[in-house]
Amino acid sequence: MIESKTAWIEAEIASLKEQGLFNQIRTLGSPQGAWLVVDGRRVLNFSSNNYLGLANHPRLVAAAKQAMDSYGIGPAAVRSIAGTMDLHLELERRLAAFKGVEAAITFQSGFTANLATLPALVGKGDVIFSDELNHASIIDGSRLARAEIVRFAHADPDDLRRQIAAVTDYRRRLIVTDGVFSMDGDIAPLPEICAIAEEHGIMLMVDDAHGEGVMGQGGRGIVAHFGLHGRVDVEIGTLSKAFGVVGGVVAGKQIIVDWLRQRGRPFLFSSAMTVPDVAACIAAVDVLEESTELVDRLWDNAAYFKQGMHALGFDTGRTETPIVPVMLGEAPLAQQFSRRLFEAGLFAMAIGYPTVALGKARIRVMNSASHSRDDLDQALDIFARVGRELGVIA
Ligand SMILES: *Cc1c(COP(=O)(O)O)cnc(C)c1O
Repeated sequence: MIESKTAWIEAEIASLKEQGLFNQIRTLGSPQGAWLVVDGRRVLNFSSNNYLGLANHPRLVAAAKQAMDSYGIGPAAVRSIAGTMDLHLELERRLAAFKGVEAAITFQSGFTANLATLPALVGKGDVIFSDELNHASIIDGSRLARAEIVRFAHADPDDLRRQIAAVTDYRRRLIVTDGVFSMDGDIAPLPEICAIAEEHGIMLMVDDAHGEGVMGQGGRGIVAHFGLHGRVDVEIGTLSKAFGVVGGVVAGKQIIVDWLRQRGRPFLFSSAMTVPDVAACIAAVDVLEESTELVDRLWDNAAYFKQGMHALGFDTGRTETPIVPVMLGEAPLAQQFSRRLFEAGLFAMAIGYPTVALGKARIRVMNSASHSRDDLDQALDIFARVGRELGVIA
């Protein structure tokens, strides 16, 4: 008998299910917010990257509607042919001004921003020094670039120095790191990395997807957080997390942005962000520039939640941001913990190997400005109950 051509996929999926690694995707029946309807149940939401509650913010919704009345919906072309509207350019000017950089260019997502930028900056014969915990889109962009990829130990400037010293044959060099690491909520030691890059004349790129709208004064990002303006060559950001919409941005030196308009392949060969996306992002910049209220509330909420979790006896790892890993150890326990939380009315994802190291499984709690104090108290109650029931805390 001839085996079906897709039998191997069935076998792979069966194996994932056996190992408890099959990704069950839940369905939302409500807008993003502090509360969600998930698979038909109303639950407290601690799973989204909706840091500031902008995903369903009335001003963003109104801006998107208004723009659609004037411009329609789709860009109908790649940007270099006929898909760049004045609206796209306005968003890029606004983002550059917000972040305090010379220029910015937008992409369809943070993922495509990385796929555009890495191959535009380095290629065959070049070297990329990459933090070992960098995001998948950096890894894929680096592979596309066909440069040599040299990993350095996570957030370790000394190891970065050693790796740089070990590579003597190269054309160009680039250091790339996440700004905020999404699984632990820790921050790259950017001042040290920046000094190393300057000392050796190496280009420096930071992917600030989880820092955009979160870190720094009024959410201006990790470069602002460390006061490194003008010293990081290129910043990647996303408009899909704190900005509450979808899209990516590359911000930095004018010359790099100019180059990406010539050589960024997702810019040249894939259509632009849609009209409602762009208009909503402009409104998000308005909201952020007018007040730091949402960013402040996000950090207040995160501090309150972390303090409550510590008081209960939970281990929240090395977080320095509103991302709070609740460290549990083995993957089956994390899965069970997440299921029990959901039954108790709280939606927070279990994360295990291979996303994080073996034995480092956790629940990842995403704080948001959209949570009220009462929401946070309810969440702490639920964590206390499930934690005791499963013997994680006393
Ligand atoms: C989420 C994320 C991305 C991808 O952003 P999208 O806009 O969702 O494509 C890229 N890099 C990092 C570090 C991220 O956390």
